[in-house]
Amino acid sequence: MMRKVAILGATGSIGASALDVIARHPEAMRASVLVAGTRVEELLVLCRVHAPDHAVIADSRHFESLRDGLRAAGLATEAHAGDAAIDALAASDACDTVIAAIVGAAGLSSTMAAARAGKRLLLANKESLVLAGELLMREAHAAGAEIVPIDSEHNAVFQCLGGSMSTPARITLTASGGPFRGWTRDALAEVTPTQAVAHPKWSMGPKISVDSATLMNKGLEVIEAHHLFRIPGEAIRVLVHPQSLVHAMVDFADGSTLAQLGLPDMRTALAVGLGWPQRIASGVSALDLLSQGGRLDFEAPDLDAFPCLRLATTALAAGGTAPAVLNAANEEAVSAFLQGKIGFLDIPDTVSASLDALPARPSDTLESLLDADRMAREAARQRIATRSRA
Ligand code: NAD
Ligand code: MG
Repeated sequence: MMRKVAILGATGSIGASALDVIARHPEAMRASVLVAGTRVEELLVLCRVHAPDHAVIADSRHFESLRDGLRAAGLATEAHAGDAAIDALAASDACDTVIAAIVGAAGLSSTMAAARAGKRLLLANKESLVLAGELLMREAHAAGAEIVPIDSEHNAVFQCLGGSMSTPARITLTASGGPFRGWTRDALAEVTPTQAVAHPKWSMGPKISVDSATLMNKGLEVIEAHHLFRIPGEAIRVLVHPQSLVHAMVDFADGSTLAQLGLPDMRTALAVGLGWPQRIASGVSALDLLSQGGRLDFEAPDLDAFPCLRLATTALAAGGTAPAVLNAANEEAVSAFLQGKIGFLDIPDTVSASLDALPARPSDTLESLLDADRMAREAARQRIATRSRA
């Protein structure tokens, strides 16, 4: 059977890695749906190379450019625009596999649509799990969707568990430590967006790069692991591992620990998701520990210099709407930081102030979570305005 893959966030970093792996297996799979946010020219370039059945631009103002560009290129690709079109295609026969790689809470609706439609769901959009993990996992389970995590750590855990989502005794997520590992809080006050997005080990989109620099990324990943593997927050540990070669470790009841290793390249995780239970080529070469320096170092994270990790584990423990508030406030703060409006330390400050302003409430419906998301963005914007440099 030819696998038909929808790539939501095709013009991003994960999207590029996914298209690279898919193109290595023309006899087994093809990109049937490509989705982008606003960059219509980049989407058109991808359509010319991959000739999907459908292309969607989320920003409807670009619909005509997309349609006319496809026509001018002589492609049979159907043009669509808007969020509803993304959700509809993610749930339709146009694909059997969905790569959820839109950044931020903007990816929740289409991720949920793919889960409800019972797709194989390669889930990179970690924010949707942080915002609505319980609901998303419940819907996926009910519809028989097969979730494969596309986050290197969670994909590593998935592999250590042999592809099942059974509950291990304990999980260790590794963190590179980001560009500012070892820095003091004082030194962090003056860092620039350019410094923050220059990740030492991974090449990623701007939002997750900033999250890696604050360690919020690891905090989001603790919440992500909690939902994916149904494991309490206390059984999830974070270790800084500067080489980024061991992606996660899983402890079992009998004292055995399994780890997954590999070069830091997301094509491995994507190949696992596209091929599972088969192993397929990804373009990533096998790990040669000696040429990588022959060392694997580990250290505890510095929670004083990087309070975002603690804010996230506290939000997980508080439960209810708290993770949704954390996520939304963080998205607003990171965006303001990238625009030069606030400093690096204003990111944890904004998240913390928003969590204080909006105490956790029960969250059994999507509505209540989306409400919390909205209110947190409002609280964060108010805080940002008081901090604003611009
Ligand atoms: P990116 O910024 O490079 O790409 C984001 C993609 O989402 C782009 O294609 C953009 O057009 C699209 N997009 C943005 N807003 C949209 C909207 N409102 N509607 C439709 N499309 C929209 O980001 P990335 O680094 O590829 O990350 C994507 C997701 O994968 C994030 O949730 C991130 O946390 C997760 N992730 C990424 C990596 C990585 O190595 N890059 C690793 C683990 C997890
Ligand atoms: Mg990760």
